[in-house]
Amino acid sequence: MGKEKVAIIGSGNWGSAIARLAGQNVAKHPDVFDQRVPIWVFEEEFKGKKLTEIINTTHVNEKYLPGIQLPENIVAVPDLVEAIKGATALVFVMPHQFLGRIIEQLEGKIEKGVKAVSLIKGVDVKGSEIHIFADVLEEKLGISCSALSGANIASEVATDRFSETTIGYRKKEEGELWKKLFETHNFRVDLIDDVAGVSLCGALKNIVAVAAGFIDGLQYGNNSKAAVMRIGLIEMKNFCQEFFENVKMETFLEESAGVADLITSCLGGRNRKCAEAFVTQKKPFDVLEKEMLNGQKLQGIHTAKEVYTFLQARNRAGAYKLFDKVYKISWEGMPVEQLTEGL
Ligand code: NAD
Ligand code: 13P
Ligand code: CA
Repeated sequence: MGKEKVAIIGSGNWGSAIARLAGQNVAKHPDVFDQRVPIWVFEEEFKGKKLTEIINTTHVNEKYLPGIQLPENIVAVPDLVEAIKGATALVFVMPHQFLGRIIEQLEGKIEKGVKAVSLIKGVDVKGSEIHIFADVLEEKLGISCSALSGANIASEVATDRFSETTIGYRKKEEGELWKKLFETHNFRVDLIDDVAGVSLCGALKNIVAVAAGFIDGLQYGNNSKAAVMRIGLIEMKNFCQEFFENVKMETFLEESAGVADLITSCLGGRNRKCAEAFVTQKKPFDVLEKEMLNGQKLQGIHTAKEVYTFLQARNRAGAYKLFDKVYKISWEGMPVEQLTEGL
């Protein structure tokens, strides 16, 4: 067997943090991995220079993960098809709203037997259909796709603070390969045979994190936030059980992807931060995202809208009260004070 050739698709805040670990680990396992790791960068100008040039000369993604040195085997490539050429192991890590366009460009260009892992937190909704992105990638690109998700604020992982994550796999040996690519002494990987559970926890907790931010903006305190987190977790679980088969309760309760990611996101994530500002500054989310995140992207408000649309299409609107409130407050002008009514 030849060596695995890894390519990373996406280079934002999390994409860059995870590229750092992947670059370190391929160097640790030269018997398993090819040493050059291309990372596809959505090209843009930053401080008068191309972002790919900045990354390839300073080895820092100065826009999305400033101050963090990337290993020199991480090579920024602006052309998507060029970046994945010859790759056997693809890492998908971009804000979920951009994946559709990327898949279109990759269709028909991926060889048989290529493996993938999705680090994307979101769901794909089309009318009354809902899919996890690992399934979309499998179906559209004909590849076997695992999912990685956990309590993983990128800046903390990038500075080697002790963290855990979960990889949901289809085939055990693929899970083991991804673990080899990402695990470090301070970034612990657990494997579970539950791609859907891992993916859905990561997507749905973002809606709950928006609600937690609203609570912070309202200054309701810790009891209220804990209540929203508890109610959110139950809605996450019920949603998975209603619309997906074979999601494991263990993923929710015992894995980093479950309750732990819900907690860290409700305490420290970008969705939480912008939702708090939505209440205190009374500006729409697109304005806050631009002002506060320097190009990084919110996922929770979009997932709230997508889940709302899906539930409407299934005649289940109102069955998930917290999800419903987050959508209506974020997008339809419902007064935020109504968040906790009727929960
Ligand atoms: P990000 O929020 O930093 O988003 C910026 C990225 O989006 C940049 O790479 C930018 O080039 C890209 N982009 C902007 N416009 C684009 C376009 N039109 N087409 C394609 N790309 C475009 O991204 P991130 O933090 O790497 O998040 C990626 C995924 O990982 C998300 O689903 C997120 O929920 C998840 N995640 C993030 C974190 C975190 O702490 N940042 C942690 C775990 C998981
Ligand atoms: P935010 O996108 O809200 O920052 O959440 C990051 C995350 O997924 C932490 O695990
Ligand atoms: Ca386990």
